Amino acid sequence: MSSNVDAIVVGGGQSGLAAAHHLTHAGLQATVLEAGPEPVGSWPHYYDSLTLFSPARYSSLPGRPFPGDPDHYPDRDEVVEYLRDYATHLSADIRTDIRVTTATPDSTGFAVHTDTGEVFTAPLLIAATGGFGNPHRPDLPGRDRFVGTVMHAADYRTPARFADHHVVVVGAGNSAVQIAVELAETAATVTLAARRPPKVVAQQAFGRDIHYWFTRTGLDTAPVGRFVERPPTVPIFDTGHYKSALAAGRPAVRPMFTGLDTESAHWPDGTTTPVQTVITATGYRPDLGWLTGLGALTTDGAPRHREGLSTTHPGLGYLGLEWQRSLSSASLRGVGRDAARLVTRLARTPVSVRGSAEWPGTSGSRLGRR
Ligand SMILES: Cc1cc2nc3c(=O)[nH]c(=O)nc-3n(C[C@H](O)[C@H](O)[C@H](O)COP(=O)(O)OP(=O)(O)OC[C@H]3O[C@@H](n4cnc5c(N)ncnc54)[C@H](O)[C@@H]3O)c2cc1C
Repeated sequence: MSSNVDAIVVGGGQSGLAAAHHLTHAGLQATVLEAGPEPVGSWPHYYDSLTLFSPARYSSLPGRPFPGDPDHYPDRDEVVEYLRDYATHLSADIRTDIRVTTATPDSTGFAVHTDTGEVFTAPLLIAATGGFGNPHRPDLPGRDRFVGTVMHAADYRTPARFADHHVVVVGAGNSAVQIAVELAETAATVTLAARRPPKVVAQQAFGRDIHYWFTRTGLDTAPVGRFVERPPTVPIFDTGHYKSALAAGRPAVRPMFTGLDTESAHWPDGTTTPVQTVITATGYRPDLGWLTGLGALTTDGAPRHREGLSTTHPGLGYLGLEWQRSLSSASLRGVGRDAARLVTRLARTPVSVRGSAEWPGTSGSRLGRR
């Protein structure tokens, strides 16, 4: 079976829903294809204690404010509920339990093939598949000798199963610190191992949440994303809890271990400590394998784009990438802005070139650098 619409959005998380909002407001017929059972993105899979780092007033998608006290910090399940409700107010056709396997060029623009056997065609295609399905798992020295558990933060839910364990959390970002501090309350020892120490900044400055200042100063929206070659260390927003836990050594912070052994880790200062579990909180990469056949990605699977607009295929766009356009691109508060801009630009793509493999006259230009 095959259906044709104006735009196909792959991924029904916050990015896909924000895209659907702007597509339908532009008068375009949009179909959202979501692999999971509900259009709520990866949020149900994040760890149980997750609380947003931005207050509700800075955590909304276009057209629907986040409910509740605007100054409260919503928890994971509130975000799931918000997205579930948001999706019911969209006039796009949202299909769940359908996974896109590949995309190919088609006379209309793009043909999107799915695991149900259905094929969808459209002149416009938006990739909003996030990164949760593609956790970055670094090579750990001595991993082959280590007999304990190595897992990614993507698989961490609660501290319960690690009570009395010796745990090393690898990473220096928000997830690494949150998980390590949480584990330190019940585990025997917890060490946070990172190449750079975590950068903890106060959640409040001059009586206001830090996101107020990001907005007021324009830091949140400054279009500097295309100049960011390597994303800087993400600061950890803190009401004081993390700072005091780190100062108390729960968790201990150490430079990255030099190697693992059967049941231990060796550290740069020559010491050795017991380890049963290593949790790598080392981030995610864009989960875009379904676009490989189209030739839209670099050899290491990254999208070739400029501010979300494909530099290889007119009519193709991306949403929810880190630093896609600005600091806030891969967040609840920022993705709506990027979606509005992307939809406007995609809708301007000349019909004659949609889906074709190359923008006229751009081959070899710096547009293809990412
Ligand atoms: C632990 C953690 C904490 C975070 N905390 C915050 C926070 O406090 N505030 C904030 O603003 N941001 C936060 N983020 C960042 C970001 O907002 C979230 O990662 C968010 O889930 C990204 O939304 P998304 O729609 O881009 O991707 P996702 O939520 O990952 O949604 C992508 C969707 O695409 C679907 N999909 C994937 N492949 C296919 C396919 N081939 N076919 C069909 N469907 C497919 C998936 O099932 C999924 O539903 C956090 C991220 C993480 C990992």
